[in-house]
Amino acid sequence: MKQMYPQILDNIKRIREKTAEASARYPNKNGEVKIMAVTKTVDPELINFAVQNGFDLLGENRVQEYLSKKDSYDPAAKVHFIGNLQTNKVKYIINEVEMIQSVSGIKLANEINRLAAKNNKVMDVLLEVNIGSELTKGGAAPDQLFELAREASLLENIHVRGLMAIPPVGCGEEIFAQMNELFQKLGESGIKGIDMDILSMGMSGDYELAIKHGSNLVRIGTALFGARNYNTEG
Ligand SMILES: *Cc1c(COP(=O)(O)O)cnc(C)c1O
Repeated sequence: MKQMYPQILDNIKRIREKTAEASARYPNKNGEVKIMAVTKTVDPELINFAVQNGFDLLGENRVQEYLSKKDSYDPAAKVHFIGNLQTNKVKYIINEVEMIQSVSGIKLANEINRLAAKNNKVMDVLLEVNIGSELTKGGAAPDQLFELAREASLLENIHVRGLMAIPPVGCGEEIFAQMNELFQKLGESGIKGIDMDILSMGMSGDYELAIKHGSNLVRIGTALFGARNYNTEG
């Protein structure tokens, strides 16, 4: 018999309810809100339980950890890379993920493009924005985003599908509003070859606020799987 995890079932139910409530209260033109399960440090057995209960979109932070776990994943899982990605590691995941959300600069975009071409594919990507201008975080500075988008739009084997951000912990609501504004502006910029379909922001502590400001992809770790061991944080 398959193992049951009642706590995770409860969490799934609560996250679904809160997401539906926030979506109903703050309808936005970016469309239905998708929920991603963020898997760092989590045992594949628990991840598969979430997948089998409808949380089939997974977010991976670390290349090594993902490679060591992926063969145990339920084949129904769809995987996005969401962590800080070094250019020399793109080769390990180019055929193992459906999207790379953490494209922080043109050097990384070029390498993804090169390897996608080599593998006869077009990789969907999001541009990561360092919306809080934090030194410790990756992502393009807001005032460099349009230039990055223009450069990335010229690369034939990547397809920019939207934006991703990790706002500062406990930041004010205006940060989310600023992200939504950048998202809308880029959508109206007329830059050919990019699409603004996905605004990926909101984590366990702030996803309702993110939905209020246009997020249509929330990335949930702790509220789904419980607290992580701090030392293995990535
Ligand atoms: C860990 C992580 C999350 C999830 O954070 P929680 O607060 O545990 O929900 C979301 N996005 C990224 C990029 C992460 O690294």
